[in-house]
Amino acid sequence: MLSNFHTHTVRCKHAIGTERDYTETAVSKGLNILGFSDHGPFPDKDYGLRMQFEELPDYLEAIDNLSNEFDGRIKLFKGLEIEFHPKYINYYKSLFDEFGMDYLALGEHSYTLSDGSMKNIFFAESTCDYVEYARNIADAIGTGLFAFVAHPDIMFINKLAWDKNCDKACDIILSAAEKYDIPLEFNANGIRRGISSFPDGERLSYPHDGFWSQLKGSKQKVIIGSDCHIPEQIRDNAITLAEQMCRGMKLNVIYDLF
Ligand SMILES: [Zn+2]
Ligand SMILES: [Zn+2]
Repeated sequence: MLSNFHTHTVRCKHAIGTERDYTETAVSKGLNILGFSDHGPFPDKDYGLRMQFEELPDYLEAIDNLSNEFDGRIKLFKGLEIEFHPKYINYYKSLFDEFGMDYLALGEHSYTLSDGSMKNIFFAESTCDYVEYARNIADAIGTGLFAFVAHPDIMFINKLAWDKNCDKACDIILSAAEKYDIPLEFNANGIRRGISSFPDGERLSYPHDGFWSQLKGSKQKVIIGSDCHIPEQIRDNAITLAEQMCRGMKLNVIYDLF
């Protein structure tokens, strides 16, 4: 069984390829399941690097049409990768009930601070931010609205050394995932970013060993996500390497969400 539930399209303005391009590439690379998870829009505000809210029906219709056309060759799912902000709870529910979404992937790029303002995790000032970020992820997991957590360790992209806040942030995310039995994504896009220099040495930004090694031999479900922004990335060297790394760490990799 080969699958990918983390797929972007040209609609997000920083990816190449239409829904058809990704579907055809997935079929040619032997995938059985392809889940589309382009960056999700919000109805009242454009947070950037994503489709407009008005484009949502077109996106879903395109996948529905391809689903019919490719019936028997590949199973397609309609999803979005989207941030969790508590004020949008009813909107997330409407994505399932009114728009017919199959799943939401939690992709926390921005998160909510205690004063209600939003912050981007790519610009953490200290590892204290990781703890607040992790609490946002745990809150999101607790809603039961999300099918998996995309790149749960993306915070380690910041040029900060590992310290006890990192332990605490990992613990918050891993405990919530275990409690709600939600899969965590081992994200191949981090592998594509390559190894670079951090205050505590040379490493990948993510996936981060410090996070994943805690799951060695555990029952925690792990899903490998391509996070492809180019059709060829649906199944590339980064995916092969991700599979090897997961095997090496004895992670419990699953291939189907439904
Ligand atoms: Zn993207
Ligand atoms: Zn993504």
